[in-house]
Amino acid sequence: MYVDIHCHLDALSNPQAAVSSAEEAGVSLILTNGLHYENNKAALLLQEQFSVVKAALGLYPNDAVTLSDEQLSLVYDQIRDHNPVAIGEIGLDYHHDATQKERMKSVFTEVLALAEELKKPVLVHSRKAEADVLDALSSFSVVANLHCFGGSLKLARRGIDAGHYFSLPTSVVRATHFQRLSQEVPADRLLSETDAPWMSPNDLPNEPANVLVGVQAIAAARKEVLEDTRSQIFMNSKRFLSYEE
Ligand SMILES: [Zn+2]
Repeated sequence: MYVDIHCHLDALSNPQAAVSSAEEAGVSLILTNGLHYENNKAALLLQEQFSVVKAALGLYPNDAVTLSDEQLSLVYDQIRDHNPVAIGEIGLDYHHDATQKERMKSVFTEVLALAEELKKPVLVHSRKAEADVLDALSSFSVVANLHCFGGSLKLARRGIDAGHYFSLPTSVVRATHFQRLSQEVPADRLLSETDAPWMSPNDLPNEPANVLVGVQAIAAARKEVLEDTRSQIFMNSKRFLSYEE
């Protein structure tokens, strides 16, 4: 079975149809990621509606910097109350906002402390901030999935040495950076994602069913048999999320 470890199902025009197509395609787990308080509620609702969907609750870096301390506390309480399987999407993004690096880092640090306390894996977004993300992670005992990692292979190796995972998006079908990254990441740290509705492998909005073409491209880049890559990613997903079926 296939796993989409990182997407935003609520942002699709028809989540129900997308879940059906994914199930027909053999996807057994869709981890939809929340971005802020209201969006986390949408993720929880989808988790209730569909057995194949699990919700990660998070705080997107560019949303986080717009919030007051009280609003941030609301999100932290929400995460505590709902005990999600993982915390995400969190991270640092200097590409979209380079003016509030310190605030962004302090919120990221707070969420990582929460993840450490609750013993939850984290799904991390990093854009033009990969070194700072790795620095912040190194202060905590948390396991991270560095999703859509756009940093250099040298930085990726730092993440690998620190024990983190890497999920390759469906755009790996054409993006040579992700093809190189999928060759670099050890077999037991590879994960698959779509980041739907974004990072599409074609001209249409992305959806979880497309995780199949992503895994095919990862297998091709690694010169592996598809079934081996698929089952390895499936085992890695279960280990990363520490869940049993
Ligand atoms: Zn995302």
